[in-house]
Order: sequence, then C-alpha cells, then structure tokens
Amino acid sequence: MRLFQVESITEDIFRIKMPYVCVYVFEGRDRALVLDTGWGYGDLKSVIDSVTTKPYDVIISHAHSDHYGGASQFNEVYMSLPDKNGYLNRLKNDIRPRIMRNALKKDNFPVHNPLFVDPIPKAIKYYSNGHIFDLGGLSLQALHLPGHTLGEMVFLIPERRLLFTGDACTDNTMIYFDHSAPLSAFRESLLNILKIKEQYDTVLLSHAPYQIDKEIVDSNYYWVEEILANRDDQLIIGDNDGQPIYTARDRRKSYPPLQSLGNIRYSQNLKY
Ligand SMILES: [Zn+2]
Repeated sequence: MRLFQVESITEDIFRIKMPYVCVYVFEGRDRALVLDTGWGYGDLKSVIDSVTTKPYDVIISHAHSDHYGGASQFNEVYMSLPDKNGYLNRLKNDIRPRIMRNALKKDNFPVHNPLFVDPIPKAIKYYSNGHIFDLGGLSLQALHLPGHTLGEMVFLIPERRLLFTGDACTDNTMIYFDHSAPLSAFRESLLNILKIKEQYDTVLLSHAPYQIDKEIVDSNYYWVEEILANRDDQLIIGDNDGQPIYTARDRRKSYPPLQSLGNIRYSQNLKY
C-alpha cells in the first residue's frame, strides 16, 4: 500500500488516496480547494502542491481524525461549528495512531508514530450550510448532513454533477458515536439532499469504494425510515463504549438493488 496515490476523476478534480481514506482536490480557474486532510501521516501538503499551483482553501468535512489529521500543515482550515467541540476535545489527546492502527490492522500496514504531523491546526475558520466556495468555473456548495457527526457537511459540485457525501451517507453509514446526531435529524436532512437529486449523477465518498451510485441517498433514506419504524434487521455487530451497535441490513439476506446499496450502523439511543 502506497502512502499517497493521486488519481484524476475529471481534468479538474483529483483524488489523493492514502491508507483507508482519501482527500479531494478541486481546481477551478482562479483557485483550488482541498477537501479533508487525511490522517496527518506523512507530507500531504507537498503532494497537494504537486497537484495544483493555484492558491487554495482547505475544508474539513467532519471532525474525525482520518479527515482532520493533517490540518496543521495548512495556514487555516474551514470546519463546521457543530463539530468544533468534539474536534478540540480529540486534539487534547492525539487518537490518530490508535485509530489508524485499528483501521489498518487487516492490511498489516505499519504505522510509525514519527510520521504523524502536529495535530494542532494553526487557525480554524467556520463555514455553514449553504456556503458556496467559488473556484471560478467550478464551485462547491456546502450542505449540512448531520448523523455520522453533528456537523458533517456534504458538497454539491453542480458544474460536474457530483455530490460528495464523505462519511455522511455511504454504503455503511456509521451513526453511533457520542458526537453523532439522532437518526431523526439524519432523516430530515436526507430529504433536503433528495430535493436536489436532479443536480448530480455520481456520489463521491471518503473511503472505499470512493464513488457510488447516486441512489445511495435514497437507499439510506429507505433504511433510516425502516430503523425509525422498527422494521430493520436490527442485527447487533459490536459495541461502542458498552452500547450495542446495530446494523439495519443483515448482509446475509438478499434485498432488491436499491435496498442492498446502502446500510446504516447505529445506536438505539440515537433514534430521536
Ligand atoms: Zn468519519
């Protein structure tokens, strides 16, 4: 497994893959934008500088260590206000080595502590729902999709008909942390994303498979409705700090294509 691997999605959108997670670079006519900063393991900044020569902003989609870990390599990063507290708490105690080792256990990837950059960012700027980052001929519109974390943001890139959902809406959306939002709030915000369904064709993710069919949003909506109505499979697959983690869809069962696209891992105490 290579530490950084750059691939282009379109001529102006790049994905930098690193172990377990990826970062996106969007390059407009005037500016570029870096979406997430990975683990902060190794020198991401020099990879970005080899991808674009334009001035750029750096945005954190949500306050998890595999997304904010490299923030200190940049002069300032944008983050949503609801994720700030969890972020600052986690910075006090650098959890990146433990989380990265856990995530990469099955790949036998060696994690060397000296390769982590300083976890403390130089400056944080806040952004919120509706914020448009205009890069010149290419733009990203921030949309609040709470669930996985309280403040997670997803982005519509209308010029390329893409929706980035990060960890907020995936084939395995995880909503069971102490800093997750209730499933009812996730459901409400998914409805807002479904209202703009005609504006995107493909969904970009932060983890493998990295992009997915646009119906993933409908599939998550289907499953959150099932959970809230107590009709999902309710299979216990582990625990988080003593609280059982349930999965909505038992992967051993067969379901129609739309339903088998998405899945939600959740905690029962996060329904409302
Ligand atoms: Zn996450």
